[in-house]
Amino acid sequence: MSIKLNIPTPLEPYSFRGINFLLKRDDLINKELSGNKARKAHYLIDNPPIDKDSIVSYGSIQSNAMYSLSFLAKELGLKFYYYANHIPNLLKESPRGNLSLALKNKMVLKEGYSNIEEKSNSILIKEGIAEEFSYYGIEKLAKELIEQVDANTKYQLFLPSGTGTTALYLSKALKLLCSKIEVYTTPCVGDRDYLLKQFRELEPNSSYYPKILDTQKRYYFGKLYREFYLLWLELQKELGIEFELLYDPKAWIVILNNRELFRNLIYIHQGGIMGNNSMIERYIRKFGEKYEDYRE
Ligand SMILES: *Cc1c(COP(=O)(O)O)cnc(C)c1O
Repeated sequence: MSIKLNIPTPLEPYSFRGINFLLKRDDLINKELSGNKARKAHYLIDNPPIDKDSIVSYGSIQSNAMYSLSFLAKELGLKFYYYANHIPNLLKESPRGNLSLALKNKMVLKEGYSNIEEKSNSILIKEGIAEEFSYYGIEKLAKELIEQVDANTKYQLFLPSGTGTTALYLSKALKLLCSKIEVYTTPCVGDRDYLLKQFRELEPNSSYYPKILDTQKRYYFGKLYREFYLLWLELQKELGIEFELLYDPKAWIVILNNRELFRNLIYIHQGGIMGNNSMIERYIRKFGEKYEDYRE
């Protein structure tokens, strides 16, 4: 079977709280394999590992990468083994969100990183698909953007980081292609030092790194924040587009806090919204049913 990627994705003009920007609709690449997970896996789609029978990966129990790999493996006819360090009992009994979707794709879930087995006939993929082969698809994204924007204008491109693979490789590709698009990011999973460490593991040349901006308040990945949910709802209401709940709200807080930097902003929608359901459930349980309940 083959996976159809709808690329190039559109670049559409929007405005949010007085900031005019271009939105790169990578959420529209493919319903199942969306956003940067599709970009990072593009190499495997174009070069299916025909000599292998399985994919092995690891990471958090609700990750977008896990779900994306479960779909990719199913479509490529490979088995998929996924290791999570800890599986909460509640999820063992009733899987939800990305986990339940991935299990429907026949993912084999295992607990404990110490049990990870690299078999000779499997490909081991790092957490979050933070792989060197990911450059292949992200370079294509860079080329698409260069085609779509005005070559003589300076742009500031923003995208939030988990492993930082997408931001780093996009920044590198745009620099190598001599584009006037400059990449900015913010760490969502760890802090700035964690993100820099991730960059260094993939790329020794720091002149390729994107600029890192952060918030004064420390946000912990996967935790619920009233201001995240309110901003997410407002984005949806203003733009008519659903964003992702783990990464996008922090990105927009950073953009709004530094709006003077973003004269010609490009924002990348990195997909992942199929994982929102379990987050929305948690938000409603914690703060209440109605939008009004979230107000200070
Ligand atoms: C995975 C993901 C990210 C993080 O991507 P990295 O390449 O690991 O930095 C950001 N946003 C969304 C919506 C994602 O699914």
